[in-house]
Formats: sequence, structure tokens, C-alpha cells
Amino acid sequence: MMDYLPIFLNVKGKLCLVVGGGEVAARKAGVLLDAGAKVRVVAPQIKDSLSAQPGVESIVACFDALHLEGITLVIAATDDRSVNQQVSEQAHTRNIPVNVVDDPELCSFIMPAILDRSPLMVAFSSGGASPVLTRMMRGMLESMIPQNYSRLAAFAERFRQQVKQRVTNPAKRRIFWENALEGVVAEKVLTGDENSAEAMLKKMLEDEDNIQRGEVYLVGAGPGDPDLLTFRALRLMQKADVVVYDNLVSKPIVEMARRDAERIFVGKKRADHTLRQEEINELLVRLAKEGKRVLRLKGGDPFIFGRGGEEIETLAAEGIPFQVVPGITAASGVASYAGIPLTHRDYAQSCMFVTGHLKDGTMNLDWAALARPRQTVVVYMGLHGLDTLCAQLVAHGMPETTPIAIVQQGTTRNQRVFTGTLKTLPGIAEREQPQAPTLIIIGGVVTLREKLQWFHPQGDE
Ligand code: SAH
Repeated sequence: MMDYLPIFLNVKGKLCLVVGGGEVAARKAGVLLDAGAKVRVVAPQIKDSLSAQPGVESIVACFDALHLEGITLVIAATDDRSVNQQVSEQAHTRNIPVNVVDDPELCSFIMPAILDRSPLMVAFSSGGASPVLTRMMRGMLESMIPQNYSRLAAFAERFRQQVKQRVTNPAKRRIFWENALEGVVAEKVLTGDENSAEAMLKKMLEDEDNIQRGEVYLVGAGPGDPDLLTFRALRLMQKADVVVYDNLVSKPIVEMARRDAERIFVGKKRADHTLRQEEINELLVRLAKEGKRVLRLKGGDPFIFGRGGEEIETLAAEGIPFQVVPGITAASGVASYAGIPLTHRDYAQSCMFVTGHLKDGTMNLDWAALARPRQTVVVYMGLHGLDTLCAQLVAHGMPETTPIAIVQQGTTRNQRVFTGTLKTLPGIAEREQPQAPTLIIIGGVVTLREKLQWFHPQGDE
């Protein structure tokens, strides 16, 4: 749920009211003037620098409801809360949007922080939760969006109609613009050589028929925490026309895909396959053939128990271009967030990833190899076979005191870690009923958690 609806308001030539005559009021009036508004300032005392600004109408007086006559928007910036409150009430009664500086309760709208690359504009806000965080965010945005993006946006705007007339298919047009704005054309604009940029763009328009067709990005989304995405994953998520995802991909991650991208859920839960694997393969092919950029988002890494190999096999057979983007696999993300190093000089020199998926009620694993000492075994999809797993390992010589952990929904806010031994953990799991997805980690390294978990941001028992 959003606390506010972000919008950009056109106040050009509109009369806006600023109540207050000091430094803060001056700053707010400045923003309004920058956006083309006419500003009426009301206060018993008004700084000269404020009243002298062109476009400002000063009224040296105490605030009165009459001052709201003909007003489009109000900002109260006095240091007197009772005055601010009065402004807020009067504005609310008249349905005039009102902002009271540093007093969200009295506001009907809040002012975002702004990164101005006009015509490109970024407005952002923490909804008053943390000004420091907002400032940090500004730093990030400043570095991501160079100053001369203004120029790039203006360039794009200049050719918008022309391109629209020439490239009529919207999906194709988006690709056209992405090619232009991510490639050499953009470089030319950013270095100030708009003539060359224009020539290149026109050349691209002539070759319009050759605009590339659909492709598929097979992208690993990591184990859950969106912070564990790779830059490349994020970039492709922003490019995709369609997102095909399953239930291992966390909701916040799916939401990070391009806002207007179509989202198709093909979730696979145990025994409740929404779409069969062959159907998913066919879907990817069909979408790409329609000329779309298809993002196949998979939990963890696509090539680790992800059937990614099968999906691209079909694509390759159909001659559809694809790229594969690795992700942090559950074993490594989950282990790290649970404070369990997968290898450690004193406990484990190797680490094995196996699937504990039951086939016809049994697990087909090389038990003797798994039961060897001084290694870590990570079991994906193993919860339902936990009893079998523990019993078989003990039967093949692993001490029943061997530490073992189940990590539920690792790296997410719902992460929980259950630890025990091969002997005790099945009982613990029976009692605690861990929620899917769960990962099982077996070996001496599990005991390190007691020392190391403290340093990790995720709190759990
Ligand atoms: N390709 C994925 C694995 C898919 S198999 C990867 O590389 O991680 C699905 C299994 O992964 C689940 O049954 C569970 O064992 C494990 N898994 C995936 N995400 C997990 C998470 N956040 N916490 C615990 N286990 C997870």
C-alpha cells in the first residue's frame, strides 16, 4: 500500500499561496516559481529577498482565510503551529491542496525531494519516515542520472512524433528508442554532438524494418531479498515487455520489473503445477516470436535445480536469441543470511548441492558419498523427505549427532532457522512446521551459526 499518490502538478500561471516570510518560506516559494507558478506570500514580516522576486505578490499581514481566494495550492511555512493549523483547516474546508512544512498531519500533500533533469524529473520521498535516507537516495540518483540527461530527454522529445509516425508498432517503437537511448546516439547527444546524433537516428529510422525481434532473458532472481539481484538482472528487468515468473520469485522482485510489463505467473508448487514445463517452454517461444522481450525470472540461479537448461534448449532449437543471467543460488544466499559458512577450514573442505525431491516416495541419492565426513551437504526441495534423508545418512555411517539446519524462506523477512541433529531435527520440523521454501544444510558448519549469526542483519530464533 502506498501512503501517497505521487503526481506531477501543472501550476504554470496559477496562483499559489505561501504563508510565512522567512527562509523556509522563501525556499518553498522558489520551487513554486521554478515550476512557473505565481506566488502570493502572506506574513507579518517578509524577507526582502523573497518579496523582491519577480512573480511574487507580497501581503504584509497575518494570515486570513480571504487570502485563499483564487488559490490553487497552499504551503504553510511559519514557525507558529497554530497559524499553520489554521491554514491547514481553511484549505481543507475549501479542498485546496495544502502542505505544512515538517508537519505531515496537517498536510493533504507532501513535497517530494526533486532531482531536476528537465524535462526528465525524479521526485522521491520517504513519506517523512527518514530524511537521511532520502538524502542518501538523492546521492544514488545523482550518480545514476548524469546532469546532461536533460539534453538526452530533450533530444528524444524532439524526435518523438517523427519516430511515432514512422515506427507504428508500439513494441517495436520501444525497442527502437531503447536502441537509440542506450547506444551510440545517446553517447553523441551526451557529448554535445547533436548533429551526428540526429544523422544516426535518421539512419536508424530508414532501417526500421531491421529492428531486432523478440528475445528471451533467462534471469536468476536470487533467493528472495531484492538486494541480492545483480545489476544485469535489474537492467533486463527494466527492458522486458513480459515477465514470466514462478512462485519462488518474491513479490518485491516481480514488482521491480518494468511497470507496464505484462506479468505471467506460471508458478510451480509441489504437485500443483500451474503450467507444465513443456507449456512454459512453448510459452516463451510464442512470446518471443511475437517480437517481445521476454524475461523469464527464476528463483535463485537458473542453472541450479532450475530447469533453465531445458528452457533454453527449446529456444535454441527455435533459433530465438537468449541470454542467461546467473543469480545467487539458495544455498549461498540462505547460508550467508543464516550465518552458516558452507565451507570452513576446520569443518568442511567441500560442499555438495543435491535435490531431495522424492520420486515415487523415495530419494535417489548417492548416500555413501553424502555421508562422508568433512563436507557440507545442502539439500534443495528436501523437507518432505527429511525423515528418509536423516535415516539414510545415519544408516550410511554419518554420526546421528551431526548438526543439521532447516532454513525457511531464507534472506526474506520470514526467514527462520531450525537447528538440531540428524536424530532430533525430524521431530523439531514436525512440531514447528517450517514454511516453504526450505533449504536443508548438513554438517559441522551449522554449529558456527551460534558464533556468526549475531553479525547478521536478519533476526530470527
Ligand atoms: N534455482 C533455484 C532452486 C530451485 S529448486 C536456486 O538456485 O536457488 C527450489 C528449492 O530451492 C526449494 O525447494 C528450496 O529448497 C530452495 N530455495 C529456494 N529459495 C529458497 C529460500 N529463499 N529459502 C530456502 N530455500 C530456498
